[in-house]
Amino acid sequence: MSDASLLDFRFEAHGSPVPASEREAILADPGFGKVFTDHMAMIRYSTDRGWHDARIMPRGPIQMDPACAVLHYAQEIFEGMKAYRLPDGGTALFRPEANARRFRESAERMAMAPLPEELFLESIRALVRADKNWIPAMEGGALYIRPFMFASEVFLGVKPASEYLYMVIASPAGAYFKGGAPSVTLWVSEDYTRAAPGGTGAAKCGGNYAASLVAQAEAIREGCDQVVFLDAAERKYVEELGGMNLFFVFEDGSMITPPLGGTILPGITRDSILTLAKDAGIAVREEAYSLDQWRSDAESGKLRETFACGTAAVVTPVGTVKGDGFEFGIGNRGPGILTEQLRAKLVGIQRGEASDPHGWLERLD
Ligand SMILES: *Cc1c(COP(=O)(O)O)cnc(C)c1O
Repeated sequence: MSDASLLDFRFEAHGSPVPASEREAILADPGFGKVFTDHMAMIRYSTDRGWHDARIMPRGPIQMDPACAVLHYAQEIFEGMKAYRLPDGGTALFRPEANARRFRESAERMAMAPLPEELFLESIRALVRADKNWIPAMEGGALYIRPFMFASEVFLGVKPASEYLYMVIASPAGAYFKGGAPSVTLWVSEDYTRAAPGGTGAAKCGGNYAASLVAQAEAIREGCDQVVFLDAAERKYVEELGGMNLFFVFEDGSMITPPLGGTILPGITRDSILTLAKDAGIAVREEAYSLDQWRSDAESGKLRETFACGTAAVVTPVGTVKGDGFEFGIGNRGPGILTEQLRAKLVGIQRGEASDPHGWLERLD
């Protein structure tokens, strides 16, 4: 078996990349997740050969056998991260080693071959270097990077696959919300849960998203933007959104976020905000918080702000919460003061505009 950490990426340049003028037009208004860069990264795994055949290659379709294991039993995981354009024109990643570790942990939970963290990092660096002209320079823009891996063995038996395909694609993204984050309305799902104790809630796997979509569709039908899930055991405690973690801010300036523990995705934005809040002397507790308490604290004014956070939208204020037969507003239903301060601090570090005391930025060039 090859020593994965010594793998070299073979570089196959795209023969006809998107012309610069067309690329610049796309980068002026890229939207989210709709257009992709010229290249992609790929590494193969088999139990016989280990990790092999590492490549940066032209982005394009892949061939798949109809009996490919992922199409039947959903062994699939992914990551979401960003590359930023720095004020001096350089390029940086934000805490990429945290994504590498989480990707390995997701693989372990899904009984997949764990990709060595250094190989994950090399694949990201190599792809971003190849496609660095695709990083939008606009305010709030970034290159969204999507590493993913799936069971590629052609076999219908139910067992962990013996072959996997790891890939990375990248997509230029504009400001997720133009003109600053508007506050969102959440729908409390009481019929559906996202993750049960002992389940896959802490793994970043496509299956969790598949399970959340019917609840998200219900939220939209009810006139809301996003669904918020309660814990599966008691249907009492607030957990997270389909793809973002939650924070609650109180009148005394303290904060609460639901504790990790297997049913909540350990967000890197969540962890960064916990650290920034502690740096700022804010008392922040990782503590279970019930829907009933949320509602009564919002109504009494004890709760001042609520925000969701994740890589794609960074920080999103929550203005209104609705559920079956109830509705409550949070603060003045607009972005709160502490929400805005923490967002500005985090974005400042990510864009290389603020000091980076924890060494979170990795500069590529
Ligand atoms: C990815 C994700 C998050 C946010 O994680 P970040 O590392 O902050 O982007 C939160 N919840 C779920 C369910 C997720 O999949």
